[in-house]
Amino acid sequence: MAKHIAVYPGTFDPITNGHLDIIERGLRLFDGLVIAIAESPVKEPLFTVDERIRMVKEATKKYKNVKIESFNCLLIDYIHKKKANIILRGLRVISDFEYEFQMALTNRKLAPDIETVFMMTAEGYSYLSSRFIKEIARLGGRFDCFVPPNVAKMLKEKF
Ligand code: ADP
Repeated sequence: MAKHIAVYPGTFDPITNGHLDIIERGLRLFDGLVIAIAESPVKEPLFTVDERIRMVKEATKKYKNVKIESFNCLLIDYIHKKKANIILRGLRVISDFEYEFQMALTNRKLAPDIETVFMMTAEGYSYLSSRFIKEIARLGGRFDCFVPPNVAKMLKEKF
């Protein structure tokens, strides 16, 4: 049987327990995952792409069949290059839906051979976003319960 490799793209600035939950459950569905870290300069990430690669590698080291890479081209071009045909995305709240819906349909129009698969967040992580974690860290709040220990350490070093 053909192996199904999904690409899980995102900014991962930083990776959170919500992302890790999608990765863990995604690995039950697919033979392998490529975690594709978008360089996203327009989003002005807090962490450099090398820092994000490092933190995702450390946070996912216990999983087999996970590969971590960065990309800075059109997502569908990257996926074609990887010879994959599945995009994995997570959905949290209704506000995610509109953006994800537009992106999935745009990608399908540009690359009909690629399918986007959505996984619903675990209810405990439905409110969790990298953006809020950065805001909490900036303002001196506690964020250890939202991110893996290596990310908590890197966030403390940043602020
Ligand atoms: P992007 O800039 O592409 O949105 P993110 O790193 O913010 O990158 O998110 C990558 C993917 O992970 C998105 O599909 C997002 O909806 C999903 N995601 C982020 N946080 C969570 C969470 N707490 N639960 C489930 N999915 C999540």
